Amino acid sequence: MDKRLPPQLTPEIRSLAVARASKARSERSEVRSDLRSGARSFFDIVIDPRMSIKKMRVLELLESLPGVGLTRAQAIMSRAEISPTRRIAGLGRHQIAILRKEPLLRKVKSAAGSLVVMSGPGGVGKSTIAAALRRDPRFWVSVSATTRSPRLGESDGVDYFFLSDEEFSRQIAAGEFLEWAEFAGARYGTPKAAVNRARMEGRDVLLEIEISGARQVRKSDPTAILVFISPPTWQELEDRLVGRGTDTPERRQARLDLARLEMAAASEFDHILVNHRVEQVLAELVSLVSSPNA
Ligand code: 5GP
Repeated sequence: MDKRLPPQLTPEIRSLAVARASKARSERSEVRSDLRSGARSFFDIVIDPRMSIKKMRVLELLESLPGVGLTRAQAIMSRAEISPTRRIAGLGRHQIAILRKEPLLRKVKSAAGSLVVMSGPGGVGKSTIAAALRRDPRFWVSVSATTRSPRLGESDGVDYFFLSDEEFSRQIAAGEFLEWAEFAGARYGTPKAAVNRARMEGRDVLLEIEISGARQVRKSDPTAILVFISPPTWQELEDRLVGRGTDTPERRQARLDLARLEMAAASEFDHILVNHRVEQVLAELVSLVSSPNA
């Protein structure tokens, strides 16, 4: 066989490629028409997980919005410091924050729900907050997968999806996690499909995850709202952590060291909410979600 010749595509592969390209074209044209009719907002498109949409140019999307022609689209892009050829996948958090303030982009309310990522040191009360939001119909609280064993009273599919190491590795390889991290000797991950589904149904999604997972979401989704829950004082956190049962002194020290590391990450978050009272934190979370960049 002559190695200089390009590989010959079989008719099956060729027709598969043609079908894929035509599907991508029709998805993109559907997006443009949704924007024109006001069925979806610009920010709904930014979080659309389909690759055909992620590859669309920002300029093309802006131009499709009612009341925005080429000139206005270019002016919006320059205010947000977005280069003319930028694609949706390349938009950053800073740019999204500026775009959220554009009156022409605020006209259509987003159909998709927000993504709220909540982190903070152990013992700060994150699980109480998450449990309260589970009872709030506006929110959908994600159920993570983990390789750790269930604790007393925990059930599969409710508190976590308890997976074997092999199954967890398979799901990482298949790209099924929005983020995942190792924590205290076990692995934890957020199932991507369920989060996307809930957001597309218009529900605000809450992830209660540790800090390195929050960092991953920050990178992959510029629209995510990152919230750090802080204790009123270090002493209060220490009392709560130390008061937790029958730890050995070494284990207690390890908890405190970890909490100190976690506290040091607070400034990486968009908002820091001090947990004086759970009701107050809940009210603040609800207001953040209703006006993410106010
Ligand atoms: P626990 O084992 O006590 O339920 O959780 C330990 C830590 O794992 C907590 O800080 C919790 O927020 C975090 N965690 C739970 N689910 C996830 C997840 O899906 N991803 C990440 N990155 N952390 C998680």
